[in-house]
Amino acid sequence: MNKGSKLYEGKAKIIYETKDKNLVIQHFKDDATAFNNLKKANVEGKGVLNNRISEFIYTNLSQCGIKTHLIRRLNMREQLIRKAEIFPIEFIVRNIATGSLTKRLGISEGTILENPLLEYCYKKDELNDPLISKEHIYSFGWATKNELEIIDKTSLRINDLLTGMFRAVGIKLVDFKIEYGKAWNKDTEKSEIVLADEISPDTCRLWDAKTEKKLDKDRFRKDLGNIVQAYQEVAKRLGIMPEETNISEVNFGKTIPIKFKKK
Ligand code: 5GP
Repeated sequence: MNKGSKLYEGKAKIIYETKDKNLVIQHFKDDATAFNNLKKANVEGKGVLNNRISEFIYTNLSQCGIKTHLIRRLNMREQLIRKAEIFPIEFIVRNIATGSLTKRLGISEGTILENPLLEYCYKKDELNDPLISKEHIYSFGWATKNELEIIDKTSLRINDLLTGMFRAVGIKLVDFKIEYGKAWNKDTEKSEIVLADEISPDTCRLWDAKTEKKLDKDRFRKDLGNIVQAYQEVAKRLGIMPEETNISEVNFGKTIPIKFKKK
C-alpha cells in the first residue's frame, strides 16, 4: 500500500492518505508527550512497540465482535486502517482510582471501583481536554443518544475483554482512554461506529498484579525511567515482540528530552 500525502499529525501518530479514499495509514512515532505537550521526549522504540501491542489488542477485540478501524499492520511502524470521522471525545474507563480522578474528587489512590466508571472528555488541547457530561455531548451535537449508547456498551465490553486479557498475564488494567469514529462499511453501504486510534501502554494504566509496578506512560509522566523496558515487558507478557527486529540489537530505551517547561 503506497503512502500518499500527510493528512494529519498528532502528538504520537501521523495519518497518511492512500489511493483508496476509505483507507489511511497510521504511523506510530517515538515521540512521548505529557501534560498537554509541556513535557516532551523522544523515546526510541516506543512507536514500534505501540504499533505491535495495539495491533494485537485490536485483532483480539475484533475476534470478539468489536468493530475496529484496523485492516492490518503494514510494517514495524505502520497500520492500514479505515478512514474514520473521529468523535471529538476521549472515552475513559476506570477500574481503580488514580490520576485525574483522585486529584479531581479526592478519592484515595488505588481505590477499587465497585463498577467500571465511564468518563467523557472533550478532545481539545487548548482547553486541556476538559471533563464533560452526556448533556454537553447532546447539546453540542458531538454524538447522538443512540451513538453514545452503542459506544458506552462497547467500552464496557472492551473493558471486560481487556481486563481478562491482562489479568491472564499478571497485569491489572487500571484505566484506559479510547476513541471512536464513523467509518464507511462498503458491504452495508452505511457508516458505522468503529474503535479508532490505538490501545497501548501510552493510553492505558497497566500495573504489575503483584508489585503494582507501573508498566505504562506514567513512567514517562512521573519520571520513573525505563519506559521502553516497561512497554517491552507488556509485549513480552502478551507473547508478542516486534518480530522483524532483533530487539537486543536495537538501542531501545534511550530517552532524549526535547523540552521541559514547568507548569
Ligand atoms: P487521567 O484522566 O487519569 O489522566 O487518565 C485516565 C486514563 O486515560 C489513563 O490511562 C491515561 O493514560 C488515559 N488518557 C487520558 N487522556 C489521555 C490523552 O490525552 N492521551 C493519552 N495517550 N492517554 C490519555
